[in-house]
Amino acid sequence: MINIKLPDNSVKQYEAGITPLEIARDISEGLARNVLAAKVNGEVQDATLPIMDDADLQLLTWRDEEGKAAMWHSSAHIMAEAIELLYPGTKFGIGPDIENGFYYDVDFGDYTVSEKDFTRIEQKMLELAREKQQFIREEVSKKDALSYFTEKGDEYKLELISELQDGEITFYKSGYFTDLCRGPHIPDTSFIKAVKLMKIAGAYWRGDENRKQLTRIYGITFPKKKELDEYLVLLEEAKKRDHRVLGKELELFTFSQKVGAGLPLWLPKGADLRERLELYLKKVQRESGYEQVITPHIGNVELYKTSGHYQKYGEESFKPIKTPAEGEEFFLKPMNCPHHCEIYKATPHSYKDLPVRLAEFGTVYRYEQSGELHGLTRVRGFTQDDAHIFCTPEQIKSEFNGVIDIIERIFKALDFKDVLIQISLRDKENREKYIGSDENWEKAERAILEVAEERGLNATIEYGEAAFYGPKMDFMVKDAIGRKWQLGTIQVDYNLPERFELTYVGADNEKHRPVMIHRAPFGSMERFVAVLIEHCAGNFPLWLTPDQFIILPISEKYQTYAEKVLNLLKKYDLRGFIDGRSEKTGRKIRDAELKKIPYMLIVGEKEEKEEKVSVRKHGKEI
Ligand SMILES: [Zn+2]
Ligand SMILES: [Zn+2]
Repeated sequence: MINIKLPDNSVKQYEAGITPLEIARDISEGLARNVLAAKVNGEVQDATLPIMDDADLQLLTWRDEEGKAAMWHSSAHIMAEAIELLYPGTKFGIGPDIENGFYYDVDFGDYTVSEKDFTRIEQKMLELAREKQQFIREEVSKKDALSYFTEKGDEYKLELISELQDGEITFYKSGYFTDLCRGPHIPDTSFIKAVKLMKIAGAYWRGDENRKQLTRIYGITFPKKKELDEYLVLLEEAKKRDHRVLGKELELFTFSQKVGAGLPLWLPKGADLRERLELYLKKVQRESGYEQVITPHIGNVELYKTSGHYQKYGEESFKPIKTPAEGEEFFLKPMNCPHHCEIYKATPHSYKDLPVRLAEFGTVYRYEQSGELHGLTRVRGFTQDDAHIFCTPEQIKSEFNGVIDIIERIFKALDFKDVLIQISLRDKENREKYIGSDENWEKAERAILEVAEERGLNATIEYGEAAFYGPKMDFMVKDAIGRKWQLGTIQVDYNLPERFELTYVGADNEKHRPVMIHRAPFGSMERFVAVLIEHCAGNFPLWLTPDQFIILPISEKYQTYAEKVLNLLKKYDLRGFIDGRSEKTGRKIRDAELKKIPYMLIVGEKEEKEEKVSVRKHGKEI
């Protein structure tokens, strides 16, 4: 008999060799109908694989990310099976699950596949799904694996197999299709009730542009038709909120190939909005005891050797800049932290001065592959709302509380209601890979957990996810249509104070190392503005929006009165302008609606006489 511990800590006894699916059935038939895969001692595996020893077991369903992943990856197999049946002789590359669905890289030979083929493939996939095909795992020798795909004539699979060790190769067979795969998969195909192929793209085999371009087909599946319908509605909504489209329409930012890929250009309205965000944050930070600093955009190579960034990222960053005469090497600043360490070091510190909180809207540059760039969310130059706190180990808890106060205040002001937090701690089994004393780690981890507990934060704890230099807390927001976005972070660091030999004089008159805390509530201004645009669909909070009002005179006769109104509102620091075009009022209203200006102030004869304006709110029919 073996002991199976379930997530609620209850322990059940079963005979060795029982499968997770059978355990699910023992608990309830309803549960068994929903089990997609299982996590056994932290490893995701097929729910149909036997368990031989005592184990921790978590049954994975559609509600779990890993359950979804198993379903989507299995769907890639079904798509390949459908394609193989419909287009004999097709060869296959790789077919993983992704964030939303899956893809398979396919070589159709002479056939040019297009979206016109989608319905046919979808229908076939549903047909195969209904057959309730089981995914059968088979361990094969390298020799047999090679001979199977040699016979089939699939050079892609042969190349993958040639890189694997004998003894670690598995095939999965479902219905008519056999694939080289590690798994895990869902028990059978009947879980797949709705299928949608999304798009086609070219993809070089193994990401190498010198090799053959395969056809990547993206798709997604669901256990219920209703969920697919909801997903498609969400996609439509997301399209309308795309920050790249709205950023253009609202004249917030642009990109120029001449300036360079991934380097955003902020237009006047966007720069104005961003400055308001920065001023707001600066004000909040000043009230919380931060001091503003300014550092240059480049730093000497020695600075980054001291910080360790050179050793770690040197190869993957922009190439150094050299001075013509002295041959000194400078790097574009990838992070503000090393500079701030030098600022801390510039003056002596006593325990009485701590914490020291240095803040900077620091622009940094990081190399990203051109294919990875995306609007404002993935760029090569961006401004972090950065700050570094230098404190004693005892102050970590109160500093975390202080930073969370700021973050909560900002999220509230910007109408983000759903905030999720991830706390990343050390791997309990593997403590030697972390820098800093065990005692300090204990102290910091306990402080972070206490803060989360005392504040009732919606937090998940991940062991083993901490950086080698300290534990951290990451902030995610859910936007208005339920998508999750990674934003800011608070991160403890025992490494940089060591490398930069930072000290303070303690009450004992001895020198001590301060702890450093990195924190950036927004992450970066670029990313944050992108998320904000997608969250509010361009309808910014009134205090932040570029133009709060637009004055619409119904004819040229009322231009003078419109100017009078404009001047009055400007005196109260309100932002807006007059649409003085000789267009019909209906047209002006439609244009103002498209610009998402919150208030339209219509002025005509009656308004002028009564010294009033007629107010129309954005998005509201009168
Ligand atoms: Zn697979
Ligand atoms: Zn930092």
